[in-house]
Amino acid sequence: MSFFNTLFRTILDFIIPPICPICKKHILSPHGLCAECFSKIHFISRPFCDICGRPFEFDIPEETRCGSCCKKNPLYTKARSAFIYDSFSSKLILPFKHADHLELTPLLTNLLYQAGFDLFKETDLIICVPLHRFRYIKRKYNQADILAKALAQKTDIPYHPHILTRQRATVSQGHMKATERKRNVAGAFAIKNKATIQGKTILLIDDVFTTGATINECAKILLKNGATKVFVLTLARVIKVS
Ligand SMILES: [Zn+2]
Ligand SMILES: [Zn+2]
Repeated sequence: MSFFNTLFRTILDFIIPPICPICKKHILSPHGLCAECFSKIHFISRPFCDICGRPFEFDIPEETRCGSCCKKNPLYTKARSAFIYDSFSSKLILPFKHADHLELTPLLTNLLYQAGFDLFKETDLIICVPLHRFRYIKRKYNQADILAKALAQKTDIPYHPHILTRQRATVSQGHMKATERKRNVAGAFAIKNKATIQGKTILLIDDVFTTGATINECAKILLKNGATKVFVLTLARVIKVS
C-alpha cells in the first residue's frame, strides 16, 4: 500500500472508526471481527473428511472419508468451508445474503481464501452457484457471484459468471430434508458455454453447504459437459440436517 493510501486509511479510520460487523464494537483495522466474536465462530480445520470437508471429532489419517461420503460418493472431488453454520455465524451470513450488507465482502473473501487455499493451485476456473432470475430480481444480487468475483481477483484465477444457469426456479430449501433437497434441485441447472469448461478443474463458490444436494447437482452437469474435476468452496457448512 502506498504512503498516501495508508495516510488516507488512517484519516478515514479516525473519522469513521472500523467496527465489528457482528457486535458493532470498535476494532483496530477494517474488514475484521473483534477478538470476542472471532472466538465464537467455529472455524473448520483438520481433521476433516477429505471429500466433503466435514470436521471429525478425532484425529484421523489424512484422506479419510466420512461415512456419508463413503455411502453417497459425491461427484465433486473436494469441498471446503471456512466455518460451521450456526446461530452465531449466521449473523455474518444472513446480512450478506439478504440485507445488502455487501461491505462484508472483503472479510468474507479473506475467510474463503484461507479455507480454500489448498484448492487454488489446481483450479483453472472459478464459477458460482447461480440464482434463478426471478430470485435475482427480488434480491438484486447473487451473494455467491459477489464472493466468486472477489476471490477470483484475490487469487488471479479466471472467473466466468455465466457458465451455470438455473433453467427452472427451485423452491426455497430452507426447511427441506436431504432427500427433498435432492429432488428439488434435480435437473435444475444447465451449462451455457460448454467450450469454456472442457478439460478444466472448476472451483464452484456458494455461501452455505447444507446437504450438498445443490453443489452435487452442479458438479454432475459440469462433469457431464466436459469439466475434469469440480472443487467446492463455501463460507459456511451446516453440520446436522434433520
Ligand atoms: Zn464483535
Ligand atoms: Zn465427507
